[in-house]
Amino acid sequence: MSTETDPQRMEKIVSLCKRRGFIFQSSEIYGGLNGLWDYGPLGVELKRNLKNYWWQVTVHERDDVVGMDGSILTHPAVLKASGHVEGFSDPMIDCRTCKAHLRADQLIEKKGGQQCPNCGGKDLTAPRQFNLMFETQVGAAADESSIAYLRPETAQSIFVQFKNILEISRKKLPFGIAQIGKAFRNEINPRNFTFRSREFEQMELEYFCRPEQGMELLEYWKEERLKFYESVGILRSKLHALTVPDDERAFYSKGTYDIEYDFPFGRQELEGVAYRTDYDLSQHQKASGKSLEYFDEETKQRFVPHVVEPSAGVDRAVLALICEAYSEDQAPDEKGRMETRIVLRFQPRIAPIKCGVFPLLKNNPLLVAKAKEIVQLLRAQITVFYDESGAIGRRYRRQDEIGTPFGVTVDFETLGEKDPALRDTVTLRDRDSMKQERVAIQDLPAILRERLV
Ligand code: ATP
Repeated sequence: MSTETDPQRMEKIVSLCKRRGFIFQSSEIYGGLNGLWDYGPLGVELKRNLKNYWWQVTVHERDDVVGMDGSILTHPAVLKASGHVEGFSDPMIDCRTCKAHLRADQLIEKKGGQQCPNCGGKDLTAPRQFNLMFETQVGAAADESSIAYLRPETAQSIFVQFKNILEISRKKLPFGIAQIGKAFRNEINPRNFTFRSREFEQMELEYFCRPEQGMELLEYWKEERLKFYESVGILRSKLHALTVPDDERAFYSKGTYDIEYDFPFGRQELEGVAYRTDYDLSQHQKASGKSLEYFDEETKQRFVPHVVEPSAGVDRAVLALICEAYSEDQAPDEKGRMETRIVLRFQPRIAPIKCGVFPLLKNNPLLVAKAKEIVQLLRAQITVFYDESGAIGRRYRRQDEIGTPFGVTVDFETLGEKDPALRDTVTLRDRDSMKQERVAIQDLPAILRERLV
């Protein structure tokens, strides 16, 4: 992990997220529930844009991937076979001084031994395994037979449905099954805002292949995933593909990369890309007694496919997008004095709102009517935000702060009052350069379409 951190920057980001309605603490009016978050009006748009784009490039733009949406409540047999019931745990240590529950890797190593990161206490319990799965009961009977789990990852339902999907989709190897959905882990210490939550979303692809293709596909998917993060606006220099060392890799994996990002709280994992061999399908085949083999018509071979898994966290990616976009620069206020401007420089394709629309004055019915016409014109294809209150400079700042890439202003020239040649033109402002150009209203949809990719 990189030791370079910027807690001040992180504080500003968390405060902006709340102030502008990206992310709130869950159950906040009751004091909050630790490790759980609610996305507000802008956060949900950002998150959807990210998920939709992932789905577009992973499923829609490819012939070799299909999607699915599995249930969250999971049969215990599935998670026994996958190894989660037995082994999905973190070593936990308690600090006897401040009573904190800690993950073993959070202890501070000092010369005199290990210390609690909260109080510096040295009176610590021995580590014990803490299972991270949430258990619940399905149906009226509250006994052993009714236990089910909230899934700790989306992947298992893909493995369990492998045969059904193979048969109905008639895909040939290599091919993949993709899923986006919620996962739940009772993390010992949720922290770093949404980075480590107890309820989160994953975007997972299980890409099935022949054994001899595994290592090559691992490289291929690592590169594809790095390209994906770049295409949603993350600088390549802040992304790192860490080769997980042999002794830290799952025993069945022949190669794993962690894709990491330089968050303000340090370099941390965004996504894992793992070559998991035939472990998962073989385990489910053994435990269920059902064949999960693939029959190769050409070679007449029957075998359990291997799999490469790029597994991304939606919430971690959203947090990375916000951290990457956050910037401060200097811009003139209404009186021409320079002031600090907060701007989220989102890549246009993921920005929650694509275009602000402003009548220069709110008490001029002609300006207002024209601006509302433009809202209707654009609304069919993009998210727009109409704002008529306050000085125009302040309205620009409000949109800059939430990352809206474009702003359209309806002024007296739009009404043809100064020069008839300018009738039905508006100014189009660019968030990053703050430059304004005059364009015809009828050209707006095409111009924005072109610039919003
Ligand atoms: P970590 O080591 O950070 O706990 P992990 O290696 O256990 O993560 P995986 O099991 O590989 O994570 O899950 C795949 C992805 O799911 C992670 O890369 C991350 O983006 C996301 N993820 C996992 N746990 C959490 C969590 N508690 N909160 C938010 N996202 C998570």
